[in-house]
Amino acid sequence: MKILVVEDEPALAFRLQQLLEGAGFAVDVAYDGEDGWHLGDTENYDAVVLDLGLPKLDGVTVLQRWREAGRAMPVLLLTARTRWSEKMAGFNAGADDYVTKPFELEEVLYRLRALIRRAAGHSQPELACGPVRLDTNSGRVTIDGLPAQFTAQEFRILSYLMHHPDKIISRSELTEHVYDRNFDSDSNVLDVLIGRVRKKLGGELIQTVRGQGYRLTAPTAP
Ligand code: CA
Repeated sequence: MKILVVEDEPALAFRLQQLLEGAGFAVDVAYDGEDGWHLGDTENYDAVVLDLGLPKLDGVTVLQRWREAGRAMPVLLLTARTRWSEKMAGFNAGADDYVTKPFELEEVLYRLRALIRRAAGHSQPELACGPVRLDTNSGRVTIDGLPAQFTAQEFRILSYLMHHPDKIISRSELTEHVYDRNFDSDSNVLDVLIGRVRKKLGGELIQTVRGQGYRLTAPTAP
């Protein structure tokens, strides 16, 4: 899962990046509205944290442009403003949720997880596929009830597949949602990572669909 943070206060942007990376997300950061708009317009994010007060291009305009262009990712607004009219402008532009500064960092994390889950069509915080369970709030994974350990990159792959079970996910889609923009993605690395995740899950949960990509599917009853 990959998140875009658009926030012009470097200290806050850094804290959000640390928090989200620590929670298993790939994170890109933009420090002004123009850069943020461009990234959101050209990259595929699972969710965006968007400050309203930004240099170069304000947050509401950034969001309006994304929505007009058909960019549908969930957007959580950060606002220092307490006036309802400004929050309303954010919702009218296509926001999904907001927090008012100052906020608990953890609140952003919990709201983002819920937005990502909902956008993928899941109402429960626990995702399940066969013997595998992923608690999206804690990031804990169990297989047949036993805790399983994954590296950050393995976790991103697993989390993306768990959010989109039974769908064929192409290699490029998976790459886009697993690495931040500074990562020099090498397809061999993805193969190795998929291989490790598949091995940890056991069985045939991750299928390779020749020429198309990968699919996470629960084993059918014999
Ligand atoms: Ca600001």
